[in-house]
Amino acid sequence: MNYSIEEQRVLCALPDLLLPWYAKNKRDLPWRADTDPYRILVSEIMLQQTRVEAVKEHYVRFLASLPTVNALASCPKEKLMKLWEGLGYYSRALNLQKAAQQIVAAGGFPKTYEGLLSLAGVGTYTAGAVASIAFSIPVPAVDGNVVRVLSRLFGNRENQDVLRKYYTDRLTGVYPKENCGDFTQSLMELGATVCLPRSPKCILCPLFAHCLTKSDALPMRKPKYERKKVDLTVFVLLTPKGVALTTRDNGVLKGMKQFPNEERFLSVQELTERLNSFGFENFTVLSERPHRHIFTHLEWNMKAFFIKTNDAPLSFSYYPAETIGKEIALPSAFRWCVEFFD
Ligand code: SF4
Repeated sequence: MNYSIEEQRVLCALPDLLLPWYAKNKRDLPWRADTDPYRILVSEIMLQQTRVEAVKEHYVRFLASLPTVNALASCPKEKLMKLWEGLGYYSRALNLQKAAQQIVAAGGFPKTYEGLLSLAGVGTYTAGAVASIAFSIPVPAVDGNVVRVLSRLFGNRENQDVLRKYYTDRLTGVYPKENCGDFTQSLMELGATVCLPRSPKCILCPLFAHCLTKSDALPMRKPKYERKKVDLTVFVLLTPKGVALTTRDNGVLKGMKQFPNEERFLSVQELTERLNSFGFENFTVLSERPHRHIFTHLEWNMKAFFIKTNDAPLSFSYYPAETIGKEIALPSAFRWCVEFFD
């Protein structure tokens, strides 16, 4: 992609334009209290795909319970899932713990961009954010917010994936010698509070005089994707030993507890056959309830069967009904079932 002398001039001026604005206007967020790499890493992983307001409370609770990388590395999985409950995308929590274990095994936090990039669940954006904020390394962190700001500033109509790479390269050369973390955060902050996806507050923008767009006409929107729809039969099995749960071993919600389920709707006969194959011989179907759960790229049309049985085959784990969704973390896709326990 070609760039003009004017684009280069404005890019070089960005630190001088943004750092004073950021110092005056930055929000008071809990992860901005210090530059401890563990705390920055936790915040960046939580903030992926999740709103700042939703993260704040979880972040404080998570760090009160797991204040060090060692504490996270050795945290029991049940407790970790519980602390992550409500943030969704649970694979992030599992990867975060893997990263903590890598850090502990290596004897400390990697202090280079490449070292950070080698941690589980850490991509170019997160590595750039932690490197610049925690270690003041001049590496950019270009997410959707930053692409939005820069594509509007320079009137660039390329697609967002191309721009992400392009601006990562272009910003690298203009990082200030000091305050690298503040520069990274100033771009993010401008995208989050002024250069909003819809109706940007251009009049308040420190880049107004240089901006070629001054509206929400850019970036070019990605074509809308079709959300995949899946039918799901859910077995809520109420046994004398407690309620039967399994652990998801792949796909969405991997590693989380769930009620046993199957990816299609079963006929009454198939339901009986399936329960028999699980080891349940004597059972009564108490009720059947429909529910729809929507993920970003996936929609589950669920049909849950609430089943009372005296059997308790060994292939399941059993938990007291009153602990499920409380001490025992359960993703919201299944948590709605809890209110129908009898
Ligand atoms: S002037 Fe408006 S569109 Fe341009 S960067 Fe600032 S807020 Fe975004």
